[in-house]
Amino acid sequence: MLTRKHGVTIELWRGDITRLEVDAIVNAANNGLRGGGGVDGAIHRAAGPELLQACMHIGHCPTGEVRLTPGFRLPCRYVFHTVGPVWRGGDEGEETLLANCYRNCLQLAAENAVRSIAFPAISCGVYGFPALSAMNIAWQQISDWLTDQQEHSLQRIVLVAYDEAVWQAGCRVMPGIS
Ligand code: ADP
Repeated sequence: MLTRKHGVTIELWRGDITRLEVDAIVNAANNGLRGGGGVDGAIHRAAGPELLQACMHIGHCPTGEVRLTPGFRLPCRYVFHTVGPVWRGGDEGEETLLANCYRNCLQLAAENAVRSIAFPAISCGVYGFPALSAMNIAWQQISDWLTDQQEHSLQRIVLVAYDEAVWQAGCRVMPGIS
């Protein structure tokens, strides 16, 4: 499923993010950048042990921020490690923190001349963020960011739906062409 905004193609794609041939993939990391389960584990397995070494060198990433490493054995050039919020019912700034993840990744993409970037559904796994609300935030942030930019390198943004709940939420949130 895809749509276009300000000349940028935005896709909702079902599958494994580690297989995508894009300039950058986003990792839903933890604060310690130690690697873990879910998409984080899949990215570390596909990238090889050099990725964990690079992450250990960086050390820490606050929630809502992003850190960059190479993609090592992945087909992408960069991995953007961002830390989504743990869902605690919605009264602890979770929506703002998730929005910050998307905005900071898009900003980092622009700073590194990234043309294509893929996002997993940050926080929608073990961190428990409701999928529909999370996909709404993702779409809103991408949309606002593209509207605010005068010039940027991005041509393609992929929202990766690995599980059914995220796919269904993405289909409801993304306007346009299927
Ligand atoms: P978080 O801790 O931020 O919740 P998870 O990795 O537990 O991160 O889950 C985030 C989302 O990533 C979930 O929707 C999960 O289904 C999805 N996911 C898991 N493995 C992959 C993968 N290989 N590619 C893309 N998305 C994945």
